[in-house]
Amino acid sequence: MSATETHAFQAEVSRVLHLVVNSLYSNKEIFLRELVSNASDAIDRLRLSALEDDNLLDDDAEFAIQIWAEPEARLLHIADNGSGMSHDQLIASLGTIAHSGTLQFLEGLKEKKADDASLIGQFGVGFYSAFLVADMVTVTSRAAGSDEAWVWTSDAQESYTLEPGERDGRGTTITLHLAEEQMEYTSFWSLRALIAKYSDYVRHPIMLGDMRPAPEEPKDEDDESEEDAEPKEPVLTLQFEQVNKGSALWQRPRDEVTDEEYVEFYKHVSNDFEDPLCWNHFKIEGTQLFTGLLYVPKRPPFDLYHREAKRGVSLFVNRVFILDDAEELVPAWLRFVKGVIDSDDLPLNVSREMLQDGAITRSIRKQVIKKTLDRLKTFAGDDAEAYNAFWTGFGPVIKEGLYLDKDQAKRIGKLLRYRSSGVDGLTSLDEYIERMPEGQEDIYYVIGESEAAVAASPHLESLKSRGWEVLYMTDPVDEWAVDGLGDYDDKKLVSATKADLDLGEEEDEDTKKEREEAKDSLEGLLGHMGTVLDSNVSEVRVSNRLTDSPVCLVVPEGGQNAYLERLLRNHDNSIPKSKRILEVNPTHPLINAIRDAHGAEPESAQVKEWVEILYDQALLLEGSPVEDPARLARRMTTLLQKAMTTT
Ligand code: ADP
Repeated sequence: MSATETHAFQAEVSRVLHLVVNSLYSNKEIFLRELVSNASDAIDRLRLSALEDDNLLDDDAEFAIQIWAEPEARLLHIADNGSGMSHDQLIASLGTIAHSGTLQFLEGLKEKKADDASLIGQFGVGFYSAFLVADMVTVTSRAAGSDEAWVWTSDAQESYTLEPGERDGRGTTITLHLAEEQMEYTSFWSLRALIAKYSDYVRHPIMLGDMRPAPEEPKDEDDESEEDAEPKEPVLTLQFEQVNKGSALWQRPRDEVTDEEYVEFYKHVSNDFEDPLCWNHFKIEGTQLFTGLLYVPKRPPFDLYHREAKRGVSLFVNRVFILDDAEELVPAWLRFVKGVIDSDDLPLNVSREMLQDGAITRSIRKQVIKKTLDRLKTFAGDDAEAYNAFWTGFGPVIKEGLYLDKDQAKRIGKLLRYRSSGVDGLTSLDEYIERMPEGQEDIYYVIGESEAAVAASPHLESLKSRGWEVLYMTDPVDEWAVDGLGDYDDKKLVSATKADLDLGEEEDEDTKKEREEAKDSLEGLLGHMGTVLDSNVSEVRVSNRLTDSPVCLVVPEGGQNAYLERLLRNHDNSIPKSKRILEVNPTHPLINAIRDAHGAEPESAQVKEWVEILYDQALLLEGSPVEDPARLARRMTTLLQKAMTTT
């Protein structure tokens, strides 16, 4: 028999150990995840080799990972019946750094002359994380197909020892001699919670041991001595119970997962009581290999608009939980999406810093967006009613994507729904386009505070009279959203309140002449109105969009919509009020009457008051508050009184 051997760690191992222990001290609990993951890999490895040589299984094909503690001795054991390690494998795996990526990383660190803790995520910390909680680690391992076991021991200083040992059957048992302050890792409940958190979906059963009273033996009726005997201390024995769910649902083929299972998994990951609206389970096999199972909830969560609200997508690497709230992988405007991304390419110890600007992250994020939007599009086609209900709750958030991720505008465009002057309920842009009559080139919309306000807006009069439909946009984000959308299906989106609204029709000579004449006859009044309203409007001009109302306010080129400006000013009072253009309907009898009154007495106080009332009316019509409501009310009363005395 060979005697105990002492080996020095490869220099790089000491550095990695140092780095791990110093940079992860505040995140010690991950050691369990790392060791369980190694155990699970070892089982996978054995299973693969056994495909070629089933003698390796040695009648023990029931794979499991066992974990149990001995609190008095301050020991924690993690055992597997996987591939095991031979003498030489122990040296190669636990005494050297074989992984070329890690070596490169260490070289890089040397160049930078920095032990930057944030870089730790760039390689797997793996086995050495055991030293986060243990003063000493013993590894007893027996390679599959061999009857020799070896014991590797180290206190993470310069060296480790190897000596022959005993082990029943193949596999590896890692024993952690826990540091004094790490006693929590001997508690069944702490361990159970950690496994649920990090390793619930590890594919092999994780059996957690606990000292429990042995199952009672059936009493012997005739044995009188037992009845008189003192009650015995129950005998405690180590009993194991499976504590992980065991199957990574998302790794199973789609046709092997039932809807009930999908729904149950959704409830597990989302804490939602309701069933999800829909989900997409997919595997990406391009340059990046990953699996995704993404859910869309039915109803918005209470914190949909909280800045700190967590994103609901968790990141796994090869079925091992890495982190939840993976905001790097999910854009803010899909913050309600729940589920799992499981990458084959990221290192197990990937850090948030590393996720922030990695090529893998970018490619995953792109797919998350695509898969979610595609799924929603099909869902909308399958169940318009449920989709519309969903849209009412989540639409404003999805619309944020139009300006945050402009390259997705086309996809998001398909999902947009609006109320409209043309139909009851919600309409999609495609449906709107289908209804467009001959001669209409653009898609028209009006932005305002509420459907009632925009539907009554005078700006729509000429559009409606042509039978052209107008979309009602009443979400605060709408102004930015249409901006981000740009065109849709080669059609421009045009605001009905825009100053140079071009309705695409050449005016015939008669109309043109009429307008010119009206303009001439109104010149005096328009000039006067401009002076009276100088501090409020930038221009007063004749309108070609009004049929019923006397006046309306329109937004000059590059100007801001009144509703949006009001919202912004609510947050920041220093935002200047922009001046809009007042348009006057030259065919309206009221305008003509005021024109005549002004002609008769240019300086009339009465005319000035009427002009101010018209302006207030234009404000009310677009849903803006008037500056002095009391004054307007007084003036209305006077007008009504006058009207009554003359009738
Ligand atoms: P990684 O798992 O990233 O390769 P680790 O430091 O965790 O790095 O482990 C180093 C090597 O040790 C593994 O690649 C594996 O070959 C071996 N190893 C670790 N744990 C076990 C185990 N439970 N059974 C068999 N081999 C193991």
